[in-house]
Amino acid sequence: MAVILEFKCPLCGGSYAPDAVQYTCPTCGTVGTLDVLYDYAALRSQIDRDAIHQHPAQSIERYKALLPLKPESALPPLRVGMTPLYDSARLAEHLGVRQAWAKDDGQNPTGSFKDRASALVVARAVEQGIQTVSTASTGNAAAALSGLGASVGLNIIIFVPASAPEAKIAQLLVYGATVILVEDTYDVAFDLCTEMCLREGWYCRNTAMNPFTTEGKKTASLEIADQLGWDVPDVVVVSVGDGNIIAGIYKGFYDLHQLGWIPRIPRLIGVQAEGSAALHQAWQAGQSAAEMQPIDAQTLADSISAGLPRDRAKALRAVRETNGAYVTVNDEAIIAAIPRLARLTGIFAEPASAAVFAGAERAVQSGVIHRDERVLLMLTGNGLKDVRRAQQSVAQGLRVKPTIESIQQALGSERNK
Ligand SMILES: *Cc1c(COP(=O)(O)O)cnc(C)c1O
Ligand SMILES: [Zn+2]
Repeated sequence: MAVILEFKCPLCGGSYAPDAVQYTCPTCGTVGTLDVLYDYAALRSQIDRDAIHQHPAQSIERYKALLPLKPESALPPLRVGMTPLYDSARLAEHLGVRQAWAKDDGQNPTGSFKDRASALVVARAVEQGIQTVSTASTGNAAAALSGLGASVGLNIIIFVPASAPEAKIAQLLVYGATVILVEDTYDVAFDLCTEMCLREGWYCRNTAMNPFTTEGKKTASLEIADQLGWDVPDVVVVSVGDGNIIAGIYKGFYDLHQLGWIPRIPRLIGVQAEGSAALHQAWQAGQSAAEMQPIDAQTLADSISAGLPRDRAKALRAVRETNGAYVTVNDEAIIAAIPRLARLTGIFAEPASAAVFAGAERAVQSGVIHRDERVLLMLTGNGLKDVRRAQQSVAQGLRVKPTIESIQQALGSERNK
C-alpha cells in the first residue's frame, strides 16, 4: 500500500519515476540495481508500528502497508514469513556472545528465504495482469517462484544450472514450472534468462535485477524488529551469494530507521564461501561495485555460489554503511556446520544456511563480533533441500539384525567408540 516515490540507483544516485524503468539503472547498466524508495514522512503520518505489531496475520501480510502494492492487490495465498525467531541461550553460550537468536527461514512454504521475494514479485505480476514470470536460480529462488506462482496459477519458466541439487529440481517440476536445465554455471543461466525475458516479454524475477526482490526480502527485517518489540539486535549475520538477501535486510532496517521506529540499523555481517568470495575480496580491497571483476566461483554451498554477485552495489553498501564485515568459511567448515548447528538448536539447515553458523563462530573468534553483542543468525534454507550434502556430514546409522541382542551389541560398540 506504500506509494513508490522513486527508483534510485545506489551507484550514480540517478532517480527515476516508478513507471520510467522496469529493471536496472539506465546509466549504470546491470550493476545499478535500484532501490525502491517511499515518501517516509507521509508513511509515518499514515501508519504506526503498534498497529502493525497488533496485525492478526501471521505472515508478511502484516507489512503490506510498507510494501509497494495497491490497496486492492493481494499477496499470494501461501503463508510466507513470520518465521520462528528462537532466543537460544545454548547458541549464545556456544558462540560466547551476550544473546543469540536463530531465525529459521527454512520454515517458509517452499523451504527458503527466497519466498519473501517471490511473494512480492508474484503479487506485482498479478496486479499488472502478467501471465508469465521467469527467473534464473541456483535452485531456491526457482522453487519459490514456482510455488508462489502455482498458488495463483501463473505460468513459470525457470533457468537453472543442470548441476543444481536433484531435490531442488524435483521441487520445480512438481510445482509445474517449465524447467530449462542449462549446461553451464548459474551466471550463464542468469544472462540467458534475462535475454529471453527481454525477447519474449516475460516478467523477469532475476535476483537484484528486479528491484522488487529486495523489497520482498526486506520483510525479514521488519519481522525481526516486530518480533523483538522494535528492540533490534546489535548484529545480524547472513550468508551471501548474489548479495540480494543482505541488501534486503539492510533495506528493511533502513525503512524502519527512516520511519523512526528503530534507533539504529544493526551491523550486518555477510558470510561467503571461501571459493565464492567476490564481495569479501572487494570489501577488503576497498573496491567499488563497478570495479569488481568476475571470479571463478567454486563451492559446495550451491545457494551462495556467484562469480559476479548481481547485487554487489547494495551488498557492499549494506556492510559499509552499518560498520559490518564480510567473513569467509571453507566448504569443509560449511558441511561440518550442518550437524553442529542442528545439535545445538534443533534446526536442520542446507549448506548455504549452515554457513552462517560457521561464519558467526569465525567472526567472534576474530573479534569482528564482540562478546557483549546481541547476535541474530539469519538461517536461510531448509536442510531437506540438499540431503546429499547433509549425509556427507554425518556417520551412518547403526545397522542391526531384527533382534534385541543385535541392537544391544550395536549400541555397545557405539558406546565403546
Ligand atoms: C539465495 C540464498 C542465499 C544467498 O542470497 P543472495 O541474495 O544470493 O546473497 C543464502 N542462503 C540460501 C539458502 C539461499 O537460497
Ligand atoms: Zn546508476
